[in-house]
Amino acid sequence: MAVDLHLHSRCSDGTDSPAEVVRLAAAAGLTALALTDHDTLEGIGEATEAANDLGIDLIPGTELSVDWPTGTMHMLVYHLTPGDGPLQARLAGLRTARDGRNQVILERLAADGIDIPYEAVLEESGGGVVGRPHIAALLVAGGHADSIPDAFDRFLATGRSAYVDRDRLTAVEAIGLARASGAVPVIAHPHTLGVASEDYAAAFTELADAGLGGIESYYAEYPPELRAHLVDLCATLGLIATGGSDYHGRYKPNLAVGTGRGDLSVPDETVAALAAARSTVG
Ligand code: AMP
Ligand code: ZN
Ligand code: FE
Ligand code: FE
Repeated sequence: MAVDLHLHSRCSDGTDSPAEVVRLAAAAGLTALALTDHDTLEGIGEATEAANDLGIDLIPGTELSVDWPTGTMHMLVYHLTPGDGPLQARLAGLRTARDGRNQVILERLAADGIDIPYEAVLEESGGGVVGRPHIAALLVAGGHADSIPDAFDRFLATGRSAYVDRDRLTAVEAIGLARASGAVPVIAHPHTLGVASEDYAAAFTELADAGLGGIESYYAEYPPELRAHLVDLCATLGLIATGGSDYHGRYKPNLAVGTGRGDLSVPDETVAALAAARSTVG
């Protein structure tokens, strides 16, 4: 039996409603899913209701962007429940920082002669957390790029003319806030860190000591050897090997819920391991 622990809805930069994401997971025959929208728990209520109706297990989560010296670090946080808590309290501030960044991205594009009104971005986002894929979709619609990846390559990716950094939590802060909130922090898609895969062990040992719970090992876009390397590394470091598709609806059209590019199968033991790793706080 399989699960999918990395999914986005239109509450951030996916294009399906939370309930639709849950329906797709159930239709794929999964036993569990985690909704991991960027910087928000807004979709968790709707997803939980849909999951209860369909008899599938829903793990509440989010995905944070974390400061990392050599690249991009995303941290998946599992069992983060809507309500009070140290990390929950920080999410609103992270969304505000995002809004400021998005405005600057639009200013940079305007300097390149591309006018995209902020209202158009808000409309594209459907009212949830705005991310670069929304701006990318408008660049495609306006004929400035051929596809969303092309819009990143031309304008939005790190180092491009409209790339804008923003304030982020450090990895150790994110891990500490997640743990203090009773949740389990997991490094997402480690290829974006700018660390060679043979150096992962050295890079993650310190974070494991700081309370890291796992590493996303069964990532849809990874070849089997890299998945196996990460699963071995997790066993060595005492971490949970998680995985998922990173489904974003039509913003990443080559990825399906549960199966990714067709060869993804995340073992369902992961769900019990995450539940056991969850600390009780409060
Ligand atoms: P943001 O949270 O606004 O920084 O946007 C992050 C989102 O952009 C993630 O969901 C990524 O999947 C997507 N993304 C980042 N880099 C690229 C890229 N080079 N091509 C396509 N999508 C990307
Ligand atoms: Zn995203
Ligand atoms: Fe990510
Ligand atoms: Fe993601």
